[in-house]
Amino acid sequence: MEFYLDNAATTKPSEGTVSLIQKVLTEAYGNPSSLHRKGQEAEKYMITARRQLAKILNADPESIYFTSCATESSNTAIKGAAERGKRRGKHILTSKSEHAATRENLKYLLEQGFEVEELACDDTGRVLVSDLKNKLRPDTILVTCIHVNNETGCINPIQEMGEMIHHDNPDCLFHVDAVQSFAKYPVYPKRWNIDLLSTSAHKINGPKGIGFLYIRRGLHFPSLIIGGGQESHFRSGTENVPYIAGFGQAAEEMWLMHEELKSKMMSLKLRLISGLQNNINGVFINGPKPEDGAAHIVNIRVDGVRSEVLLHALEDYGVYVSSGSACASNKPGEKSPALHAIGLTSQQIDQSLRISFGRYSNEEDVDACINAMKTVIPMLRRFIRK
Ligand code: PLP
Repeated sequence: MEFYLDNAATTKPSEGTVSLIQKVLTEAYGNPSSLHRKGQEAEKYMITARRQLAKILNADPESIYFTSCATESSNTAIKGAAERGKRRGKHILTSKSEHAATRENLKYLLEQGFEVEELACDDTGRVLVSDLKNKLRPDTILVTCIHVNNETGCINPIQEMGEMIHHDNPDCLFHVDAVQSFAKYPVYPKRWNIDLLSTSAHKINGPKGIGFLYIRRGLHFPSLIIGGGQESHFRSGTENVPYIAGFGQAAEEMWLMHEELKSKMMSLKLRLISGLQNNINGVFINGPKPEDGAAHIVNIRVDGVRSEVLLHALEDYGVYVSSGSACASNKPGEKSPALHAIGLTSQQIDQSLRISFGRYSNEEDVDACINAMKTVIPMLRRFIRK
């Protein structure tokens, strides 16, 4: 039996998505730039997907630019914003809890002579808007912030941040990493004054290797890849039509059920937390109060047990969870910026585990996880104490 509780790392593609991808791959295999009927057939799938994705953001389809993943979207957004703004200023603001896709770009820009400053957060990791007000300067060219944190599920005040940037420094660009929120939670770039937004299909039961970058209409932004002029000359290269169609399908399916799914995931999260805390001593929640964080993510700390050891012990029971972010798990020093930001010690970070739910999660998965932990944790603690 398999109990997959690592949906913040990636999700199982939905049946509707897989069958559409197969159909486009085998039937609509034309090049969408070709002028003949076969090309137009492929182009239609792209037009549909762009519309489906834009609708969820309440945006214009022309503001959606397909990329290979969210990492590419964020690279493009952050480096592009720096290039665009460098004559006006070199000051960039960010949160303390960004994904590596953002952090590594900022590290690169720091080496290029930009000034990168972090915003203070509360004890749950949430950015303090008052600190943004203090730190925003006339030469700030970019604010880049994660919406739903991938480690703890902490939700940042993106709308308030957008309002403040728009009011205090309208020339400053605002980039949002919406990978863990897109199609699961409302995000409205136009209303929230977001200029750039990164997303990825594989977090919402779509395929891996496809994402998009939202770029506010009218914003002149440097091209990423030049060549044949695809994606309105922004990102050349023949488009991945099957995955683009699959992304549109997956997002539409997710958005249609997002409210219902949110309450289902929240009750699974609460069931898990009470099941663990009522049966095992020394289990703590990292980050926001369960009801305040994103429904699909919970981060726990198990006193006296290293999460990497626990993760593999749970695997023997078919339970799949995560220690740190899957993308950064081979970099111990930078494993968990979100946990570091809320003041956890290195030892406490090593005892922290992320459990994340998705569309296919159910009570059976949660109970299997509780039961496996009830068995495994006392054994590991005994072993460690000897
Ligand atoms: N940003 C966040 C918050 C993520 O959780 C991830 C994936 O783990 C990424 C960015 C990178 O996404 P992708 O795998 O599409 O490059």
